[in-house]
Amino acid sequence: MTRRVGVLALQGDVREHLAALREVGADAFPVRRTTELESCDGLVLPGGESTTMAKLARTFALLEPLRARIKEGLPVFGTCAGMILLADHVVDGIEGQETLGGLDITVRRNAFGRQVDSFETDLTVAGVEGQVHAVFIRAPWVERAGAEVEVLAEAAGHPVAVRQGRLLATSFHPEVNGETRLHRLFVDLL
Ligand code: GLN
Repeated sequence: MTRRVGVLALQGDVREHLAALREVGADAFPVRRTTELESCDGLVLPGGESTTMAKLARTFALLEPLRARIKEGLPVFGTCAGMILLADHVVDGIEGQETLGGLDITVRRNAFGRQVDSFETDLTVAGVEGQVHAVFIRAPWVERAGAEVEVLAEAAGHPVAVRQGRLLATSFHPEVNGETRLHRLFVDLL
């Protein structure tokens, strides 16, 4: 059955995710309102700016509905800023930074520091055959992961891809370089 996968479309690289999802056979569409959220079998939180996305989600009255659907078990894939939005706790966030939560991790925003604030590297990711070319752009890393969290990949000694049940998150951006295997992994969870 074709899965209906929304991409939260408040800010960030929405188009790239829609393209990657369509390539792996999902029926992908942007989500800006609750009616669209209700029709999702799964949801992608794109890369961009987590503080802006959280503020816009509040403005568009999507913050609480998003939290509620995640609590009910909606499968979600977050990349970079999307990983931050899925995290239960954030270090180096802005004052009072809100997240959607659901994933039992603490993320450090902009963790790789100024020297290497953007870089690319090849990673081994559990569940994906061969190497994944990973693009990091002012990326977070996982500082603490709860007992239920499976670490799928590490960089610089920190988890950069994790899964907890049907929540998947990467610090890097598989959507920007035609890497569709993480999207396939997500769609297979649905
Ligand atoms: N640094 C950004 C943030 O805090 C994330 C960067 C990204 O998504 N490429 O939201």
